[in-house]
Amino acid sequence: MKTDAERRTQLEARRAELTHRMQAVESELESHNTRDWEDGAIEREQDEVLEGMGLSAQAEMVRIDAALERIESGEYGSCTVCGARISEERLDLLPFTPFCRNCAH
Ligand SMILES: [Zn+2]
Repeated sequence: MKTDAERRTQLEARRAELTHRMQAVESELESHNTRDWEDGAIEREQDEVLEGMGLSAQAEMVRIDAALERIESGEYGSCTVCGARISEERLDLLPFTPFCRNCAH
């Protein structure tokens, strides 16, 4: 079983990765604004894909932050709905999840 400290390290590493990705998305979007208008249509499509990536990274970060708060308050690893212990295998797969398997769907 992993300790809270190990989970925190895991979550923070993932958070850093997402921050990095969001910065890359942002600078890519900015570079599009400065290029020739001829590529406009293609770039707009790419922009939508990039924005989607940025949004999903952002959504995951919100969940990671919430998980880090639960570590601080000692609630991490318990389901926020029914209070059951979330299994280690599930936390390995989804370290930011606030739900046990039964409450997740
Ligand atoms: Zn539950």
